[in-house]
Amino acid sequence: MIKDHLKFLELAFEEATLAESEGTYPIGAVIVDNEGKVVSRGRNRVFTQEDCTAHAEVDAIRKAGHILLDTTNKRFKKNDLTLYTTCEPCPMCTCTILLSGIKQVVWAADDDEYGAIRRMKEGPHFINQFNTINYIASPSLDLENKQRKMLKEWNIRRGIVNTEWEAK
Ligand SMILES: [Zn+2]
Repeated sequence: MIKDHLKFLELAFEEATLAESEGTYPIGAVIVDNEGKVVSRGRNRVFTQEDCTAHAEVDAIRKAGHILLDTTNKRFKKNDLTLYTTCEPCPMCTCTILLSGIKQVVWAADDDEYGAIRRMKEGPHFINQFNTINYIASPSLDLENKQRKMLKEWNIRRGIVNTEWEAK
């Protein structure tokens, strides 16, 4: 089970590497069904598409519309999907995950500044909604540090020097 999580996180990193090579945040995501089939891939496109909302998780969820939505009956389909992302989802992505009905999220690196799922689950609002979401935070120190290194180097390349993404 944990091996599967790491395998799918590696696929999310393939997307992160693509985003990095395109010149935007090196963050990627994949959505996987309960049979282990990858149904969608997404990556950050903020600077490549001049779109502040083009985060990897949102990108992957947009591309999974055919799995998430029953357009004939105008309903959300029941799903058993897991979203894997290289970085802990921000508030926007956390709420997009909530509205998509995706029930499980796995991420490689905690984001102490913008990461939102843990804080929102623990917070006083939308308690019933967040009770439906399970998460697995940072199951591998190697992968956590891989993402931290990518984000640190991305910041340095664009002239932002900080210590936010030092290795753990
Ligand atoms: Zn986000």
